[in-house]
Amino acid sequence: MVQRKPPLEVKEKLEEALKTGVAKGYGYHRIWRILKESGVEISESTVKKYYHEIFREGLKKRGPCLPRELRIKLYDEVRRLRKKGLSYSMIIDEVCKSHGVRLKKSVISYWCKDIHNPFNGIRIPSVEFLEPSPELAYIIGVVAGDGWTVKKKNGIYEVVAEVKDEDFIEEFSRCLGKVLRRDPPRPRQRKYNMLVVSVKSKAPYELLQKPIDISRIAPFVEHCEECMRRFIRGFFDSEGSVGGNKWISCYNSNIQLLQYVRKILNLLGIRTTEPKIYLRKGTTFFDRRKGKIYVVKKDACYIYVRMSDALRFYKLIGFIIQRKQKRLENYLKKRGLLTI
Ligand SMILES: [Zn+2]
Repeated sequence: MVQRKPPLEVKEKLEEALKTGVAKGYGYHRIWRILKESGVEISESTVKKYYHEIFREGLKKRGPCLPRELRIKLYDEVRRLRKKGLSYSMIIDEVCKSHGVRLKKSVISYWCKDIHNPFNGIRIPSVEFLEPSPELAYIIGVVAGDGWTVKKKNGIYEVVAEVKDEDFIEEFSRCLGKVLRRDPPRPRQRKYNMLVVSVKSKAPYELLQKPIDISRIAPFVEHCEECMRRFIRGFFDSEGSVGGNKWISCYNSNIQLLQYVRKILNLLGIRTTEPKIYLRKGTTFFDRRKGKIYVVKKDACYIYVRMSDALRFYKLIGFIIQRKQKRLENYLKKRGLLTI
């Protein structure tokens, strides 16, 4: 098949897309899709050809690859040494001494000039590369609540949340994008009017596998006051409810987790009740939305915020879910605690 050259304006757009795409660690298929979505008529094979042409050097036959986590460590080390003014040969010796790996000069040159890096789309390969942030704290709160993690047979790890509020799923997705340094995953519509977001990534999977390991999440949650607030917000967006005679309450079958949520709320100056059992194991209940009867597998417990601290909860934490936030506002207004 004869491949015709793309028109000049298309080529310009292609080159630009390749430049930004590669910097983000995208493959040619993704770059082609982005071009197509922005209305550029171009075949995938053309994108592939130019992609490989530009990076021919990097795609030359490679020897066995070092594990990604090690490569990322070495990448940081190499760049640090280079900044200190070491030559390529000195860096090779240094890395060999400290890690027992002899890197090629070309690899070091690529890394230092930032032509290649070992991230290639998976920028956060494991928990130790996660950095504390309010966004990560929010994700922890949501997944600790109603979200879940999946390990598939093909070695794919996923973090999933299924909710009914659009504002909620958007925030969750935005936070995932920020933490994993990628585009926010797009929510998908599911039955019973539910929205689902899932992301394939091992690091949050390791962090959030259930039952939640509190000692693992603690350094991220308790990083600073803002992180603690976002963790609680994520948890209450996920498991909290406003109304009834308990007002601001949250439910979960993991009593240790509820104790922990309680501790964090306490640190923020918000007092709650002790966890109490709400549904005993073995109880059956009817889910109106799904029209199904369920049996409770584990005791379901709840805690609720003390009345006197409801305003503090509103000011310091609040809900992303506007439906819940409005209800909380109305409650506070009725009691004359809030005047807007
Ligand atoms: Zn923080």
